[in-house]
Amino acid sequence: MGSILVLFAGVIYQIEVQDKREALDRLLLDKTRIMAASVHYNIHQNQTAVDLTNVPLLGSGSHPLAEDLIYVRWYNAQGRVVRFFGVAPANQLNTPLGYQTIQPTDRWLQHHRWLRQITLPVEGRTGTLGYLQVAAPLTETHNQLQELQMALTLAVPIALGVIGFMGWLLSGIAMRPIRRSYQQLQRFTADASHELRSPLSAILTNAQLGLMLASDDARFQPPLENIVESAKSMGSLVNNLLLLARHQGKLAPELLKLLTLNPFLAEIVSQFRGLAEAQGIQLNYEQPEQAIQVWADPDLLKQVIENLLSNACKYISTGGSVRLRLVPHPGWAVVQVIDTGIGIPAMDLPYIFDRFYQVDTARSFDSDGFGLGLAIVQQIVQAHSGHIHVMSVVGQGSTFQIELPLKQLQLLKRP
Ligand code: ATP
Ligand code: MG
Repeated sequence: MGSILVLFAGVIYQIEVQDKREALDRLLLDKTRIMAASVHYNIHQNQTAVDLTNVPLLGSGSHPLAEDLIYVRWYNAQGRVVRFFGVAPANQLNTPLGYQTIQPTDRWLQHHRWLRQITLPVEGRTGTLGYLQVAAPLTETHNQLQELQMALTLAVPIALGVIGFMGWLLSGIAMRPIRRSYQQLQRFTADASHELRSPLSAILTNAQLGLMLASDDARFQPPLENIVESAKSMGSLVNNLLLLARHQGKLAPELLKLLTLNPFLAEIVSQFRGLAEAQGIQLNYEQPEQAIQVWADPDLLKQVIENLLSNACKYISTGGSVRLRLVPHPGWAVVQVIDTGIGIPAMDLPYIFDRFYQVDTARSFDSDGFGLGLAIVQQIVQAHSGHIHVMSVVGQGSTFQIELPLKQLQLLKRP
């Protein structure tokens, strides 16, 4: 929009320049024609005698054309100056015929920065009688064009500002119903998830009770175990949906606690170590000597690290290794989860943080997940004003990196 406006202003300016020059050229031509028509001559013994007595400004009569003209010059057929009005010219005609824009060098004319000059031949019956040269100042035209330029220079940013403001206002109005329906959807998901939790826990408790009561009847064991598994899986899905629906946008400051990440992460790693070793996976934790502190909701941040570690241990073969690294960086706490697992194809990388996205059903089949883990991770990290990145090579492994602002409240530069 900005470039269209600038282009439009440029075209207007060019048209105006053209118009003004044409008007001045017409005026000069008309005046020169009137003067040329007043040139009298007679032929005596094949010699032309030119009489300039009646030519306005050059002759002896009144000067009705004087207005706006700086000088008028008459050169004879050989180009030598014969008579002039205004500043004295050079003796010999030294400019080409037609229109010219010139910058005067004569000190009497220097208060005019630019002149428009016309040089025309005056023809008689026997050939060229002489040349008329007439000049008018361009000062006024220049001033008018400068005013126009200034007006356009002011008008373009003002118009841009008005258009930008109107666009912002209108898009805000247009977005209102979308925002409202999105909020309703969020509220519905939160309410539905919340309401589903009680019946689900009732199903789970009853199924577990049934399992205990029917422990010696092999007919009831498999279906009851199925019910328990399904109820647990549904419970985790409902909990995840509730989490996603509840933690939209930034977290309220009163929910945040000052957390020292070094022992916090060490604790999570120790909880995971048993699970990793049972799968034959080596789990390591690297931390710096200095304490790294962030403002965070401990439960939510724990969920982030658990989800990333759980993925790292899930999408890996026996014998692989997983590293959790805490890296200091100016202004930011950087946490990396690095695994030597199956990796993620490049074409899937842009989508893995989408809700319910799983890379391919074949490899996710055993994992009994829903594809919500990374969506939750991203949402929680963003709610803490942080960022998450992933790098992955199929067959070699993946690195998930989260960056959280350090406890100082200052302008932060991303790593
Ligand atoms: P959920 O976390 O809900 O139990 P999930 O693990 O399938 O299910 P996400 O955690 O959101 O879902 O992960 C999305 C997809 O990204 C996974 O299905 C998996 O294919 C891929 N993925 C995530 N982490 C890794 C990893 N460390 N290595 C390889 N693939 C991964
Ligand atoms: Mg997961």
